[in-house]
Amino acid sequence: MIDYPEMRFFTTFRIGGRAIALVDVCNEEQLDTVIARCEDGNLPWRILGRGSNILVRDRGFDGVVIRLRGTFVRLKRLDTHRIEVGAGASLQKMVRFCLKEGLGGCEFLVGVPGTIGGAVLINAGCFGGEIGSLVDKILLRDEHGFLKWKNREDLVFAYRYSSLKSERAVVIKVIFRLFLESEEHSRKMIRVFSSLRRTSQPLDWPSAGSIFRNPPGGYAARLIEEMGFKGVRLGRARVSPKHSNFIVNLGGATASQVENLMEWIRREVYREKNVWLENEVEIWR
Ligand SMILES: Cc1cc2nc3c(=O)[nH]c(=O)nc-3n(C[C@H](O)[C@H](O)[C@H](O)COP(=O)(O)OP(=O)(O)OC[C@H]3O[C@@H](n4cnc5c(N)ncnc54)[C@H](O)[C@@H]3O)c2cc1C
Repeated sequence: MIDYPEMRFFTTFRIGGRAIALVDVCNEEQLDTVIARCEDGNLPWRILGRGSNILVRDRGFDGVVIRLRGTFVRLKRLDTHRIEVGAGASLQKMVRFCLKEGLGGCEFLVGVPGTIGGAVLINAGCFGGEIGSLVDKILLRDEHGFLKWKNREDLVFAYRYSSLKSERAVVIKVIFRLFLESEEHSRKMIRVFSSLRRTSQPLDWPSAGSIFRNPPGGYAARLIEEMGFKGVRLGRARVSPKHSNFIVNLGGATASQVENLMEWIRREVYREKNVWLENEVEIWR
């Protein structure tokens, strides 16, 4: 356990004040114990994956941050087409595992720096693929502490949305259904997706990926670019010249600089284009 961790060390944005504590749990029993203690003490708690889709405010998060380790990062093959992956495992580990097992379908996730839990919760996707389309079943810990399996039919996935979001549940593990694929073809796909990512995203700077959701029928990046906002800076936060829906931390950016830059972009885009951009990044306060 780390007392009063500086959250900037636990997010890809490298931004964020302190939480009350950061606790790594290795199994469901430990998870139950930590959540029960938080709830007994009226302390808010949240699960942290890789912190790659969050902006933690400068004042920090007045609660306990829980990371899933140990049994939560295991992967195993179940049968011909299915694998079971712990919610704390990284997407990269899953992509590598599938490559080794001769399974295809998740190559598009290469380079998305999140965990299975964080990715399933928001139905992470790119290059025309979405993780939700691969889900067969999910084991959840519901808000009362009960474990329950949810089948595909009980879940709704849409653009950067899953019905899990409103449930206040913890994703424990996920069963994915993939297809048999030659290693050679998967490797080729991985190379293609990695290179698309390198050429289109500012991977040399800390960020939280796309800042705004794409509005229906359009692209947030295109709107921001058309406004001429590429490269615009507020303090140490800058709209990436490479991808205008990324705000990057030039080193020492604060959450309020990022949020103020976001609000300014949102207002200006609305004034000029009549489109209200919604956050894709989640703000922790
Ligand atoms: C360089 C870069 C590129 C990116 N590219 C993409 C992309 O192409 N496509 C895309 O969709 N996203 C992209 N992202 C955003 C991000 O990587 C994904 O959204 C990722 O899925 C977030 O996972 P995480 O583990 O980091 O979640 P976190 O940011 O740690 O958490 C996000 C939310 O999920 C919750 N959560 C995490 N784990 C669990 C769990 N086990 N149970 C319940 N709730 C949980 C957290 O409490 C929080 O509410 C990118 C980010 C970066 C920095």
